[in-house]
Amino acid sequence: MTDRFNNVRELLLVRIGEITLKGLNRGRFVARLIGNMRRRIKDLGEFSIEQSHSRIWIHSLSGNPLMKEVAKRLSSVFGIVSISPALEFEPDWETLVRVVEDYAKDILAGAGKRTFKLETRRVNKEFPMSSYEVSSELGARLLTKYPDQLSVQMVDPDIIFHVEIRDMIYVYHETISGHAGLPVGMSGRGMLLLSGGIDSPVAGYMMASRGMIIEAVYFHTFPYTSQQALDKVENLARILSRYAGRIAFHVVDFTDIQLELNDKVPEDMLTVVMRRVMMRIAEKLARERNAKAIITGESLGQVASQTAEALMTTDIVVDLPVFRPLIGLDKNDTVTLARKIGTFETSILPYDDCCTVFVSKHPKTHPSLLDAERAESRIDMDAIIEASKEKISTKLIDLSFEKSD
Ligand code: ATP
Ligand code: MG
Repeated sequence: MTDRFNNVRELLLVRIGEITLKGLNRGRFVARLIGNMRRRIKDLGEFSIEQSHSRIWIHSLSGNPLMKEVAKRLSSVFGIVSISPALEFEPDWETLVRVVEDYAKDILAGAGKRTFKLETRRVNKEFPMSSYEVSSELGARLLTKYPDQLSVQMVDPDIIFHVEIRDMIYVYHETISGHAGLPVGMSGRGMLLLSGGIDSPVAGYMMASRGMIIEAVYFHTFPYTSQQALDKVENLARILSRYAGRIAFHVVDFTDIQLELNDKVPEDMLTVVMRRVMMRIAEKLARERNAKAIITGESLGQVASQTAEALMTTDIVVDLPVFRPLIGLDKNDTVTLARKIGTFETSILPYDDCCTVFVSKHPKTHPSLLDAERAESRIDMDAIIEASKEKISTKLIDLSFEKSD
């Protein structure tokens, strides 16, 4: 298309959440969003990215624009509501007719008869025709040109050709949905307890969508849980980073701690105590990394360790807020989200996590604080938490330079 007409450029129109912008510092929001977008498409060429009229306009500055891939990558950047690949040219009626005829030809190629309508928005009042005139004239031209392939339908047509007349004219027909939310980095940093299950990656996605930078911590109990289990969690972090950007992934070698707990904690309290230990280690790590919250994939009543009492016994050992975005979600809703973000297939791979290997057979479902404290009485908790520092290894997961699939 760009080659066939002089001065017709491809670009991406990116819509950002207008309502969100009202309550926030708009300048910071946009600057952060553009920074995140740039990082995500850095390896695809040079781009100019500009904001005006609650839109972001992206032009390629290099030879091979790869706009499809750019749109695909950007659609997972939080803060973007939708993206339309568009054509841009000088506001001139004859050029508009030629461009739209040609544009329609590409879209109609190979397809049978399609219904369509035109939607015109004229912001530039110097353009000599009204929106209505442009739509009806242009519609008539298309019908004359493609009588066997097009028919007009005002309600729910197959194709809507959008024409926006501003300082330049923009033509597009496709709108790719984004994931909305706030740009990552607007809401500080959160430490996600990431296991190999379905829930915790979704929890991370949800908090990243509210603008949190995500770090992930996984408690690994090798050889009781396998190398594959660890690889799986790392892969989940990698999928998450399509949305959350760079993720510091921490692995805690949890085996000695787990064995000591098995040895010294009453069987029916094992899960609760294990979770309290994980929380304490996660909090220590969070403070070192300047994270302001701990995030888990817990949901009320899902299992014995997720009753209100059990959650209270884990909350109470930390002084940071614990965010549980799935707390009120039905498992089916979580699964739907996991499918949407692409973590589900990895999550259901059948590798045990520590919670299935070292699990209480008959856990106390409504443990009191006193139960928890008694269960820990034979453990030197401070020593365990202190020593955990030596057991953590950290890896940076950065998808910015990998393809989106
Ligand atoms: P998920 O599907 O995320 O594993 P789950 O429903 O299996 O959750 P649990 O195994 O009880 O629930 O774990 C509850 C939460 O505790 C998880 O969502 C996760 O945030 C955290 N968690 C559990 N096991 C680990 C682990 N080995 N490392 C890090 N976090 C963990
Ligand atoms: Mg789990």
